[in-house]
Amino acid sequence: MKWSEKAERPVSLARFEDELSAHSYLEKILWPEGPVCPRCGSHGRIGKLDGASTRIGAHKCYVCRRIFSVTHGTIFSSSHVPLHKWLQAIYLTDGGTKPMRPHHLQRVINVSFKTASGMLRRLAEAASAADEDAPSHGPMANPSNRREHPNRDCP
Ligand SMILES: [Zn+2]
Repeated sequence: MKWSEKAERPVSLARFEDELSAHSYLEKILWPEGPVCPRCGSHGRIGKLDGASTRIGAHKCYVCRRIFSVTHGTIFSSSHVPLHKWLQAIYLTDGGTKPMRPHHLQRVINVSFKTASGMLRRLAEAASAADEDAPSHGPMANPSNRREHPNRDCP
């Protein structure tokens, strides 16, 4: 699914100025009915971990004891780039559908040229996969949601 179809377009980049706001934004989109455990699919018995040493956005499932965050299974989870920079890049490229030069992105979100090129490539790949294939393959795809609502995006 394309970013623009799934979410109300954010007003500005300021919305993603840090990891905390980026996580809450993504949680609202991917978990509209609250967190879902990616391992067992459990809904209700999930707690948010708020300790000083825990990672931002960490949740714990009290059914299977898995610790996870909203980025689990998305293109963001295997990346060293902070989530808020990903969301800024998605915003700037309209979900990977709008062309942007790597050195422009590099300047705006303050990453290396190599990182910026890699991000643009992955966003473009995710966007074209979303076009030709199942909508759930877009940059915001989340397997835990697919498990809960396998046909949600189909007519
Ligand atoms: Zn679980």
